[in-house]
Amino acid sequence: MNLKYARNCFFNIARFSINFLFPSSCPLCGEHVSTDGELCADCWSAFNWISNPKCEKCGYPFPANIDLGNRPLCPNCAAGFCELDLIRSACVYDDVSKTAVLPFKHSGRLKYATFMARAMLWALRDVNIKPDIVMPVPLAYRRLVHRGYNQAELLAAPIAKAFGVKLDLSSVIRKYRHDMGHKNAAQRAENIRGVFNVVRPNEIRGKKILLVDDVMTTGATFSELRRVLVRAGVKEVYGITFCRTVRAI
Ligand SMILES: [Zn+2]
Ligand SMILES: [Zn+2]
Repeated sequence: MNLKYARNCFFNIARFSINFLFPSSCPLCGEHVSTDGELCADCWSAFNWISNPKCEKCGYPFPANIDLGNRPLCPNCAAGFCELDLIRSACVYDDVSKTAVLPFKHSGRLKYATFMARAMLWALRDVNIKPDIVMPVPLAYRRLVHRGYNQAELLAAPIAKAFGVKLDLSSVIRKYRHDMGHKNAAQRAENIRGVFNVVRPNEIRGKKILLVDDVMTTGATFSELRRVLVRAGVKEVYGITFCRTVRAI
């Protein structure tokens, strides 16, 4: 028995023992699932996953029975006001997705990252983008110390791996500002203005960047980040979030 074979045997036995002692369970309800980190069928079907028809540019979901032709655009994108060059979100921000996103962000439910990142990659399956860099929306240092992790980074890491590109955690830093909580769109835009600083422009100049965040509400964060990235010479900026708010348009 050679060493490699013995090692493989050891790992297989160890994996079997771990699966036997700790069978894979749905991260939301604890139901048994075949793959660790995946949702069970009931939890999966409770989410409002965004499918077609949707805005080709920002991913805004349209009612199912609407026919908008080959290039459907929402009024915002048709008027040229899209926050980024392309945005996708896996699902709608509602009472169901909230039960995943809020504990993920604020209560250390880091294991949710697996199914959230998978859903985000699924939302990107039919877009034709080739990012050079994947960048989580930066968190202010003070908030990072307080929370202990940047939830966007946990989602961005597997996405960067899937695209086979660099995960950039250091080209842009964010200043601390008070929470944007329940402010309206104009107040959010005002509050976010000037919080991002490009500190390593050489790393990103001429590149196409995919930004990653957990939630998109007004799009003010993406919009401001794009402003500083484009000023630093970034060629194209895309965004992917786990969920997004959807208002009637
Ligand atoms: Zn479940
Ligand atoms: Zn749109």
